[in-house]
Amino acid sequence: SKEQKGTRTAHRVTTKGTNVPSHVDSFEGLKKYTIPSHLFANLTSSGYKEPTSIQSYCIPIMLEGRDIAAISPTGTGKTLAYLLPIFSKLGSPASSSSGDVGTGVRAVIVVPTRELAHQIHNECLKLAQGRKWKLVLFSKATANALSQKAARDKVDIIISTPLRLVAALQEGNLELNNVRHLVLDEADRMLDTEFMPQIQEIVAACSHSKLQKALFSATLPAGAERLAMEMLDDPVRVVVGLKDT
Ligand code: ADP
Ligand code: MG
Repeated sequence: SKEQKGTRTAHRVTTKGTNVPSHVDSFEGLKKYTIPSHLFANLTSSGYKEPTSIQSYCIPIMLEGRDIAAISPTGTGKTLAYLLPIFSKLGSPASSSSGDVGTGVRAVIVVPTRELAHQIHNECLKLAQGRKWKLVLFSKATANALSQKAARDKVDIIISTPLRLVAALQEGNLELNNVRHLVLDEADRMLDTEFMPQIQEIVAACSHSKLQKALFSATLPAGAERLAMEMLDDPVRVVVGLKDT
């Protein structure tokens, strides 16, 4: 449990799992991890001075490579909680590397709506400043632009709805076998009967042995929680709640 100083809302944080990595109290506290310095600069230029509660806990957990189920209220900064570790782990854009990074899409963020995908793409652009990351807000048009494998091989991060992603997989216009980070955002909706068949197809397509899976949500009802725990490997579960609620 943790009290936060200053004007930020006090949150109660609980964690569950084996060998839960320690949280940090500041972005400075992340310097024990090898985070590219331009990412710290981009946090500053985005006006992010201190991590929110969910970020304090999730960022180290994801940097340690663990699977995670993170539950925290709307507006508490869940997007940065997964984007910072993903950008950090990817290190540099695939297109800038001389072949030591495998080819093909390296991270996938799945969200229930186009509108949310758009918002997450905007958060990505903040961290992407100063580097030539290939970020794709997946749509019919951008999917068509990736119909050539050579174009797909340069992609760092795809942000998509489940249906759009599955359509591309079924058309044979997308491989996810080099994906290292798979995020299901708004996971309560993704693990519902509406999206579950697509989610299973996406998870199956992400066949790399070093795949990290992360679920983020404001709530996780019992049914979705059970599906989440089946999907994740040795996960850490983090729950942020408002104090005295
Ligand atoms: P959630 O997904 O939990 O609903 P978001 O990721 O959409 O929350 O973030 C909510 C708002 O908080 C966004 O405008 C985002 O830019 C801002 N934000 C995120 N992290 C921080 C931070 N560490 N400091 C200040 N603002 C932040
Ligand atoms: Mg969100």
